[in-house]
Amino acid sequence: MMHPETARLAGALADATERALREAEIRLPPDVLAALRKAAEAERNEVARQELANILENIALAEERQVPICQDTGVPVVYLTLPPDIPLSPDLYQGVREGVRRATATVPLRPNVVDPLSRENTNDNTGAGMPAIHVAPGDRFTVTVLPKGAGSENVSRIGMLLPSQVAEIKRFVAETVLLAGGRPCPPVILGVGIGGTFDLAAALAKEALLLPIDVMDDYEQELCDAVNALGIGPMGLGGDTTALAVKVKRADCHTASLPVAVNVQCWACRRATVEVER
Ligand code: SF4
Repeated sequence: MMHPETARLAGALADATERALREAEIRLPPDVLAALRKAAEAERNEVARQELANILENIALAEERQVPICQDTGVPVVYLTLPPDIPLSPDLYQGVREGVRRATATVPLRPNVVDPLSRENTNDNTGAGMPAIHVAPGDRFTVTVLPKGAGSENVSRIGMLLPSQVAEIKRFVAETVLLAGGRPCPPVILGVGIGGTFDLAAALAKEALLLPIDVMDDYEQELCDAVNALGIGPMGLGGDTTALAVKVKRADCHTASLPVAVNVQCWACRRATVEVER
């Protein structure tokens, strides 16, 4: 049985998780929307311009009708920040799971979570190890959700490059997008994790998708230009706009390693953060 105070916090976290999922699924973050509008203005290819106009119309209709932006509502990836006075407890994990269950029923979300081998659907978007919940210390008690669709997740890649292949990172990133073609619903946003270990590089790549895309440093811009030079274009039909942005997170690594992970994200870069009401 839960301690009353822990139960209260878990309940508040469930509410916040449900709210964050509703917000993320229905409304794109302002930086992503601005990037799509900017791309639509700059695009020179007529078919690509029409595709971007269709995407923008889809986004506007979703907000007007208060329905999810895409039929693939993804699987929730969840990030919690906990201030020093809130200890991490199993009840908080239960709070997140309850919020996901409720959002599945109320938003509603497509039940996407299945057993990996039997493919049996849990029907509420929770399951063994799902949703993925990442916890970090912070000043505020917040929940951030990043619903991840399969079209883009399935074409993500990790490479264990050699330490001498730093200059090859750009080729690896562009090759990932080239191999993916139209499958991840471009224009994409790429989260790139460089360094760490096999698992940390993948985690960094996903965290990079939480960063605002209205600014890129010189290296991120260089990678983005290399991807856009591919000419894959919106929905893979050709054009200037293959990637809206590339965001990079790094960690130091073994002197003999150079892990590089590319987490591909479609234009529906859904993310939202809600402060938990305590
Ligand atoms: S890749 Fe993105 S836009 Fe395409 S179907 Fe999946 S969630 Fe929807």
